[in-house]
Amino acid sequence: MSDCLFCKIITGDIPADIIYQDDKILIFKDINPKADVHLLMIPKAHIESLVQLNESHNDLIAYMMLKLPELANDQGLNSGFRTIINTGRDGGQEVFHLHIHLLGGQNLPGF
Ligand code: AMP
Ligand code: ZN
Repeated sequence: MSDCLFCKIITGDIPADIIYQDDKILIFKDINPKADVHLLMIPKAHIESLVQLNESHNDLIAYMMLKLPELANDQGLNSGFRTIINTGRDGGQEVFHLHIHLLGGQNLPGF
């Protein structure tokens, strides 16, 4: 997806504060943090949103879910964290490349 912001972060065309990456996922700091820790986890494959997932993505999604507590632990979030996936326009999704927000720290806003 040549006009996708997060695909451009994956290719390095747009800079980001990258925390972790491997062949499947990229994790970087949200540019407009809503909490002390605010990271975004994205698949390297361009998938628009949760709606576009199918059974071919089972392994990828399991991999992402299992990575989240490990990531939270690495960030020092030992007493909890919040994950958010906004889906579609009415779900508040602004960037149409699937991403999981990881939020934590002392200043978590109310939900
Ligand atoms: P959502 O509303 O779930 O689509 O969230 C999109 C998130 O991407 C927002 O929290 C933005 O602050 C974040 N964002 C937008 N552009 C960038 C960027 N260039 N680098 C890092 N995060 C970004
Ligand atoms: Zn993309």
